[in-house]
Amino acid sequence: MGKGNICFQVYGGVEVVKQVYNFNAGPAALPATVLAQAQAELLDFNQTGMSVMELSHRGLDYEGVHNEAQHLLRELLAIPDDYAVLFLQGGASLQFSMIPMNFLTNAQCGNYVLTGVWSEKALAEGDLLGDTFVGASSKEINYTKIPNLNEIVVRDQDAYVHITTNNTIYGTQWHQYPNFTTAPLLADMSSDILSKPIPINQFGLIYAGAQKNLGPSGVTVVIVKQELLNNRATAIPTMLKYRTYFDNNSMYNTPPTFGIYVLGLVLKDAQAKGGLAVIAKENKIKAQLLYEVIDGSNGFYQGHAKSCSRSLMNVTFTLPTETLTQDFLAKATAAGFVGLNGHRLVGGCRASTYNAVPLATCEALRDFMLAFHKQS
Ligand SMILES: *Cc1c(COP(=O)(O)O)cnc(C)c1O
Repeated sequence: MGKGNICFQVYGGVEVVKQVYNFNAGPAALPATVLAQAQAELLDFNQTGMSVMELSHRGLDYEGVHNEAQHLLRELLAIPDDYAVLFLQGGASLQFSMIPMNFLTNAQCGNYVLTGVWSEKALAEGDLLGDTFVGASSKEINYTKIPNLNEIVVRDQDAYVHITTNNTIYGTQWHQYPNFTTAPLLADMSSDILSKPIPINQFGLIYAGAQKNLGPSGVTVVIVKQELLNNRATAIPTMLKYRTYFDNNSMYNTPPTFGIYVLGLVLKDAQAKGGLAVIAKENKIKAQLLYEVIDGSNGFYQGHAKSCSRSLMNVTFTLPTETLTQDFLAKATAAGFVGLNGHRLVGGCRASTYNAVPLATCEALRDFMLAFHKQS
C-alpha cells in the first residue's frame, strides 16, 4: 500500500526511516536512537579502535560498560543498596529452573500463582526439582484476569511465592503486588520491567529476559535481595548458583558483553526520556488508545482480558469470526503492521506496546482498527 506506511521518526536529531510498525511481542522494538548509536560506535567504541564485541571482558573499557548498565538500572528502578543486580544468560526460562534450585531447600514448597503459560512453565520446573503448591490460579477462566490479592493462599512451609507480573500471551498485568510476611515474593517481569516504577522492596527477586523492554535477547537481568543469597543450598552447579554471579560481579565467565552494552544504551535512553514515571504515563496513553477502540466498537473487537487486569504492554483481542480475524491480520500486514498475530497458543490478535513502540505507531494502529471496522 505504498508510501503511507513509511513512518519518519525523529529522535534526538536523528531521523530514522521506519518501514514498518513493529508490534512484535519479543524480541521487540528497540529505540531508534539506541540502534543509531550502536551503529555509530560499532567499528570503534570509545576510541579503542575496536567494537564492544571485541573488547576483553576483563579490561577497563568493558568494565565501564558493565558497571554503568548496572548503575543506570539501579537509578531508574530505585533499587535499594541491599539488592544485587546480576546479568545472566539462558533467558527467563532458565530462571524457572534456577529459582527452585537455589531456594527450594529443606523440604519446603514453592508457591506459584498461575496467570498464564509462563507461570505454568515456571511451575513445571519447580515440580521437577521439589514440592510445589498453587496459591491461586485463573486458569479456569482462561487467564482473563489476575487473581485478587486476598485470594492467594500462602502457607508456613512455602519457601517463596512466584508471580508473573505481566502475562505476555494473554494480555493481563498485575496492577498492585501482594505483601507476604512469611515468604519472599519472586517475580517474572520479563514483559513489563522498566515500563513503570516498581516497589522493589516488596520483592525478594525479580528477573527478566531483556528482549521485550530492556534490550536484545541474550541477557537476563536478576535483581535479588542479598540476604536471600546466604542460604545453604548445596550441590548446585556453579553456573546455576546466584551466589556465583553475585561474588563475581556477573563475570565468573564471559558475560554477554554486546547485549549488556545495548542494555546500557536502552537505559540511558529511558533516563533521557525522563525516567519511569514519564515512561509509565506514555505507556498508559498508548495502550489506552487501543482499549478505547475495543470498548467503543460495540463488540466488534473483543478484548481477552477483563478490564481490571488489562495489560499496558500487550493488548489482546479477537474479531467476531476467525475469518474476520484472519482478514484483519492480512490487511494489517499489507499496511505495514508487523507482529499483530496472537501467540500460537491462543490465536487472535496482540499488539505489544512496549517502551520503544512510539505513540505514533499506536495511533496508526488505532486508525487502522477504526477503518477496518468501518469497511467491514
Ligand atoms: C518472553 C517471556 C518469557 C520467556 O523468555 P525467554 O527469555 O525466551 O526464556 C518468560 N516469561 C515472560 C513473562 C515472557 O514474556
